[in-house]
Amino acid sequence: MNNNKVNAGRRNFLKGAAALGGATLTTSTTLSHAAWEAAREKTKDGKQLAIIGSGMGGVAASWLCDSDWNIDLFESRHKIGGHCDSVSVEYEGEHFYFDLGAEFFHPDTHPLYVSLLEEVGLFNPDNEAMDQTLEAPGSLSIMAMDKDRYTFNSKNTHWNIFTSINFGLYTQYARNFILDDSDYEITLEEWIDSLALSRYFKYDLLLPWMSALIGCNVAQAKKASARSILQTFALAYPQNLCAGATTMNSNIGLGGNLQVILDQCENVNVWTNAGVTGLQKEQGQWYLETEAGTFGPYDQIVVNAPPRFAKNWFSELPFTTEIASILDQFEYFRARLLIHSDPAYMVETDSPQYWCVYNAGIKDGECEGSVWLGGIHTDLPGDQSLFKSWATDRDHDPQNILAERTFFHPWITPQAIRASREIRNWQGYEGIWFSGQFTTGMDLQEAALYSALKVAEQLNPYSPRITALRNRLSERGITDINYDL
Ligand SMILES: Cc1cc2nc3c(=O)[nH]c(=O)nc-3n(C[C@H](O)[C@H](O)[C@H](O)COP(=O)(O)OP(=O)(O)OC[C@H]3O[C@@H](n4cnc5c(N)ncnc54)[C@H](O)[C@@H]3O)c2cc1C
Repeated sequence: MNNNKVNAGRRNFLKGAAALGGATLTTSTTLSHAAWEAAREKTKDGKQLAIIGSGMGGVAASWLCDSDWNIDLFESRHKIGGHCDSVSVEYEGEHFYFDLGAEFFHPDTHPLYVSLLEEVGLFNPDNEAMDQTLEAPGSLSIMAMDKDRYTFNSKNTHWNIFTSINFGLYTQYARNFILDDSDYEITLEEWIDSLALSRYFKYDLLLPWMSALIGCNVAQAKKASARSILQTFALAYPQNLCAGATTMNSNIGLGGNLQVILDQCENVNVWTNAGVTGLQKEQGQWYLETEAGTFGPYDQIVVNAPPRFAKNWFSELPFTTEIASILDQFEYFRARLLIHSDPAYMVETDSPQYWCVYNAGIKDGECEGSVWLGGIHTDLPGDQSLFKSWATDRDHDPQNILAERTFFHPWITPQAIRASREIRNWQGYEGIWFSGQFTTGMDLQEAALYSALKVAEQLNPYSPRITALRNRLSERGITDINYDL
């Protein structure tokens, strides 16, 4: 764990929002032929790379390839970020950035990502003007909603001693499962069955809570890869059971982080409202079809759009139908997130001193989670009663909804793991590369960044930014980072 002091002040929070210039992210242009041709005119003599999808993987691939390629980054939405979906929310008369998607990271689970933040200046406690990283306690409550009581509360472990002991043991099983390099094809159900813990803890608390962490129902969670889930957080559990866990966030949201990373690129044109609908290859060069027309030529393309979209492009080309059938193996579930100021997800609604950063409410065997944003952004104004909650299958929505997002979430089953392994065999085929979390078997900023690094090592092997990241990892004592399945 990195013990650097982090800035947590509201001043920085507001500064972060101001740095992003209001509600929308900047420096991207809606795709049109006129704009694209003007941009291409300046770069027509260089090597041309198209990157499709501006999530963490696409942005990182752009940043890492920037020094050697002229890059067009195509994004179907009106803004960059993908699942790094940072939104501006008005609360108590002020605007703040919050994440309606990925939010948390930690040096032990995200060493590459944290090194990237250091490299671009977003994590630098010595430079307050730039640093946007915020450290918060990693507290957790699990609540029985029908009984209106806590069954576990990490701020008050003495309330439920038996559950707390089981929880402590679980954290060490989870850590060791990763450290032992366990098989990604073991399902969550199989792993939980194997644990020497009480049946009540395993099936009435742990399983529903972990389904909430992924954002799906219990039946879906049982079939998910245990390694894939645990990889996202288990190494952040302290080895010493008495030590408190922490987590990191960004004052400008993880989407804000991506915008800062893109702003450091010199040779990247970011095109929004630029959904790719098909691919063509003519005389060794690639062309991208979009609603605004066909764009190209490109020497190489990086596909960072989720497989559920990309599979259609490959099924229409005679020489890529095998790729299409691999991409067809990835599965998703629907999920919905809200930001709201109603403590409806909590028990003890009048006792915010018991609220934890993550709160899991179990009812009828299913569980939905709620992040108490006031527990992270401790300088929020008012009573800090602000939440980010999963609301996919909830009977009643909370009141005072300030922002909302419905999306498809990867469902990483053993089938998806096998597809991730297979897609790697096609890297570079006919000038097509794949980056994004789906190539890694886990759903994490770290994974998407790693996937981009792997592609960039081939497309831009002498990238000074790759060298810089390696140097930073080595300073952290990490000489070989490997998430290959
Ligand atoms: C709710 C939620 C919470 C999460 N929490 C965390 C967390 O706390 N910490 C963490 O590290 N990770 C978290 N993750 C995981 C993390 O967000 C992802 O692993 C990562 O952001 C994936 O990045 P990506 O580039 O692979 O894909 P994406 O973010 O999916 O990006 C793909 C991009 O492609 C674009 N696209 C799609 N179709 C087209 C097209 N036809 N043409 C052009 N563009 C297209 C999409 O709009 C999108 O912008 C979370 C994920 C979710 C969903």
